[in-house]
Amino acid sequence: MECDLLVIGAGAAGIAAARTAQAAGRSVRVLEARGRVGGRAMTETTTLGVPFDLGATWLHAAERNPLVPLARGLGIALADSDALRQEITFVGRRRATPEELAEYDAAEAAFEPAIRARAAAPGPDIAAAEAAPRGGPWDATVAAWQGQVISAWPLSAISLRDFAANLLSGGNLLPACGLGALLGRLAEGLPVTLGARVARLRWGGGQVVAEGAFGTLRAAAAVCTIPTSLLAGTAIRFDPPLPQPVMQAAHDLPLGAAIKVGLRAVGEDRLGLPAHASTDRQVAPGEELIPITFWPQGRDHAQAWIGGPLAAEMEREGPDAAEALVRAEIAARLGSDAPHAFRPGALVSGWIADPFARGVYSHARIGAARARSVLAEPLAGGRLCLAGEACHADLAGTVGGAWASGEAAARHALGTCA
Ligand SMILES: Cc1cc2nc3c(=O)[nH]c(=O)nc-3n(C[C@H](O)[C@H](O)[C@H](O)COP(=O)(O)OP(=O)(O)OC[C@H]3O[C@@H](n4cnc5c(N)ncnc54)[C@H](O)[C@@H]3O)c2cc1C
Repeated sequence: MECDLLVIGAGAAGIAAARTAQAAGRSVRVLEARGRVGGRAMTETTTLGVPFDLGATWLHAAERNPLVPLARGLGIALADSDALRQEITFVGRRRATPEELAEYDAAEAAFEPAIRARAAAPGPDIAAAEAAPRGGPWDATVAAWQGQVISAWPLSAISLRDFAANLLSGGNLLPACGLGALLGRLAEGLPVTLGARVARLRWGGGQVVAEGAFGTLRAAAAVCTIPTSLLAGTAIRFDPPLPQPVMQAAHDLPLGAAIKVGLRAVGEDRLGLPAHASTDRQVAPGEELIPITFWPQGRDHAQAWIGGPLAAEMEREGPDAAEALVRAEIAARLGSDAPHAFRPGALVSGWIADPFARGVYSHARIGAARARSVLAEPLAGGRLCLAGEACHADLAGTVGGAWASGEAAARHALGTCA
C-alpha cells in the first residue's frame, strides 16, 4: 500500500480532502490531471495587470464558508463585495427611475419566499421557474439573475427543490489575491502530482488502485472529486463500474454554462461610473441578461458574465464572439462610444471546452432533488467516496460547498483505513 488515502483532483474538494488526511496524520497522495491546482478556480494575473478569476470569484455565504477563516489565517485581505457594490440598473438606454427601482426591489424580495413556499408544499418536484413570480415588470429580470446568472442555467430546466435548498444567503467576500490563488496557497505543501490523469480506478478488492500514464498507485481508500460532467461520461473507467443510482445521480446533476469576460480600460476614462459599479438592465421573458461590473474594487477593468445556453453558444463561436457581445451590451447601456474605453483583446474564460471541467457548476434536473445525497453516499463502506461541489446538500455549486464535501469524504474514507 503506497498511502492511506488517494485523492483524485486538486480542486477545492481535493485540496480539502488532502489537508484533512494530513491533519489526521495519515499518508495521502493527490493525482491531478492538469498542470496546476485549483480546478474550476483559476486566477489569471497577466492580461489585466491584476488578479482576475476566470472561474470562482466570491466566497459566498461568508459566515459559514470554511475558506473565510483559512484565508484570514493566511493574512489574505477579503473585500466585502456587497459593501463595495454600487448597483446601477438600466431600462433600455436610460437609468431606472426611483419608482422602477422600488418595483425591482419588491420583485427581488418576493422571489425567495415564493420559491421556498412552493418547494415546501407537497407534490412532485417541478421546474423552479414554475414557482417564481411571473407577470410583473421585473419578474423576468429576477428570474434571469437567479437562473442564467447565478445558477448558470435557466430556472425552467432546474429542480425547484434542489434550487430552494441551495439558495445562497449571507456575505460575499473577494480575496485580494483571487480565489484561484487562495486555493493555490492552501495546497502548498500537499503531495500533489500534476499532469497525472487517472484513466482507471479499481476499487473492488480490499484497496483502490489508480492507473494512468503516471503509472499505478495503490491506497487503502480514495476520494474522487472529478466534476459530474466527467463522472457521467467515461473519463475514468471505474472497475467495478459505479452503481447505477450513482451514475444516474451524476447524470441528473449536469454542469451549467457561463463565460467570464474581462476588458481592460485604455486610459483614464471611467465612463462616469463609480468604482465597483454593478450594472444590469430590465429584460423581458426569454431575453438575455448580461451583468457587467465596471471597475471592480477600483481596478481599471470591467467584468461581464454571460450565462446559460447563450454562454454555451458563445463558447462554440469563440472568444471574439463573447467579447463582441459584451461590447454591444456596453454600448447599449452607455452609448456607442463607451466600448472604445476598453483595449481590444478581452480575457475570456472557456470552461465547457475544458476537458477537465466540461461546464461551470452543477444544477439538478427536475425531479432529481435527491441526487446530491446519492452522490455523496460513501461506497464500499467508505473505500471510495465521491466529493466535490455537486455533493453538497445546501452549498452546491460553490467552492465552500466543494471544500466541506472534500473534508467530509476524507473523514469517511479514512475511517475505513484506520
Ligand atoms: C465561471 C465560474 C464562476 C464561478 N463562480 C463561483 C463563485 O464566485 N463562488 C463560488 O464559490 N464558486 C464559483 N464557481 C464554482 C466553483 O468554481 C466550483 O464549485 C468549485 O471550484 C468546484 O470544486 P471541486 O473540487 O468540486 O471541482 P474542481 O474544481 O473541478 O476539481 C476537480 C479536479 O479534478 C481534476 N480532474 C478531472 N479529471 C481528472 C482525472 N481523470 N484525473 C485526475 N484529476 C482529474 C480537475 O482537473 C480538477 O482540478 C464558479 C465556477 C466557474 C467555472
